[in-house]
Amino acid sequence: MPKHLIYKSGLPGMDYVINPYTGCSHGCVYCYAEFMRQFTGHKEDWGTFVDIKCYRKSLAVMYYAERSFMISSVTDCYNHAERKYQKTRGILKQFINSECKVNIQTKSGLIVRDLEILRRIPSVQVGFSFSSLDWPFQKIMEPGASSPAIKLDALMKLHNAGIPVWVSISPVFPLLTDYKAIVQACRPYTNRFQFENLKLRTLCRGKVLKLIDENYPKAWSEYDWIYNQGGGDEYWSELKKEIAAYCEQEKLDYEIAFDADHKERMEAGNAAKIR
Ligand code: SF4
Repeated sequence: MPKHLIYKSGLPGMDYVINPYTGCSHGCVYCYAEFMRQFTGHKEDWGTFVDIKCYRKSLAVMYYAERSFMISSVTDCYNHAERKYQKTRGILKQFINSECKVNIQTKSGLIVRDLEILRRIPSVQVGFSFSSLDWPFQKIMEPGASSPAIKLDALMKLHNAGIPVWVSISPVFPLLTDYKAIVQACRPYTNRFQFENLKLRTLCRGKVLKLIDENYPKAWSEYDWIYNQGGGDEYWSELKKEIAAYCEQEKLDYEIAFDADHKERMEAGNAAKIR
C-alpha cells in the first residue's frame, strides 16, 4: 500500500499531482510514462498492467485550499481499471465543495459516469486528448483509449453540464494528425486548445516508427527525415507557424507546447511526497 497519493508537481501552473493507478491500460505506443515500469518490477509490456493504489487515509483536501491538482500525470485516471475499482471517483468525491482547483486530463468517455460529482467541485476543468478523429489510426496508436466519437460525446455532455472543458491535440503526428478537423469537431464545446508534438523517446521510438512504416508507408519518408535524419527542428518550427496562423484566424485560445517535456521530467525528478 503506498504511503502517499499526493505528490508535488513539476508541471507548470500545477501545484500537486495525483495518480490513482500505476500503469495504464490505454497502451498508447508513444507513451511518455513507460519509464514508470522500472519502478514497478513489471516485466510485461506497457499497457498490459495496471496497479491499483489502495489508500485509505483521507486526502485532507481542506489543507490545500486554492492549490491546483492534476489528475493524473503518468496514467489516465479513467483507464479500464477505474470502471471496477473507482479510485478516481473516490478521490474526486473528496474534492466536492473544496476550494482546490482540480484539473483532469483523459482519453476516456468513462468520465461521464462521474458527471454529477464533477458538478459539485467548484473549480474543476477537464481536458480531452485527441491525436486523430480516425478510429483505425487511433486503434493502432492508442489501442485502449475511447474512440474519437465517444470522446466527442463526453466533451459535449460535460460542456452541456456546465463543466469547463478544453482539448489537447496530442500528440500531433506528422502528416497524420488532421488538427483542423479536430478543432472543428470540438469547437462547439470549447475554444481552448493545446498542441503537443510527437516526441519519440528511447523506449518507444522503434515501436512507433515500425508502425508508421507498416501502416502508413506513404508517410515514412517524412518520418525518416524528422526522426532519423535531423529534420525535426525545421519540420516542427514550420508546423508551429502554420498552427499559430490557423488558431489566430479561428480566434482560438491556444498554446503550442511543441518543446515541452514536462510530464516525464516531473515524475522522474520528483521525490516530494505529500500525503
Ligand atoms: S493515456 Fe497517457 S498514460 Fe495512458 S498509455 Fe496513453 S499516453 Fe500513457
